[in-house]
Amino acid sequence: MAEKPRFVMCFCTGECPGFEELNLWQLINRVRNELDVEYAIVHPQLCVDDGDRFWRDYAKPNHTYIVGGCDPRMQRKMFKDALAEVGIEFEKQIVPLDLRNMSTEDAYNKVAEAVASPAS
Ligand code: SF4
Repeated sequence: MAEKPRFVMCFCTGECPGFEELNLWQLINRVRNELDVEYAIVHPQLCVDDGDRFWRDYAKPNHTYIVGGCDPRMQRKMFKDALAEVGIEFEKQIVPLDLRNMSTEDAYNKVAEAVASPAS
């Protein structure tokens, strides 16, 4: 059976106005309880040094990580080097989702679409 995707929510320190509409814990609990994911976790700020350390420690080959956060191009720019150090190609294993300026419901629906079709 194929591995289920992991959902990682980057919440931009909790202070970003782009996530004002989003209820983080409602989203995380709905994703982990209602969607076909291995599990769902939250990171406060993946684009700084401890985010790099997190990726190097956490990311494994052959898993898919759906990452809720900011613009996918920003995510690629900020995560790709740390991921490459542990043999992970951003384009193949990361599904970046921009969940800024969305309601909890809209963000959930976007994650659900990615879980149903993680490669698209
Ligand atoms: S990766 Fe994006 S969503 Fe995460 S903390 Fe940095 S700017 Fe914010």
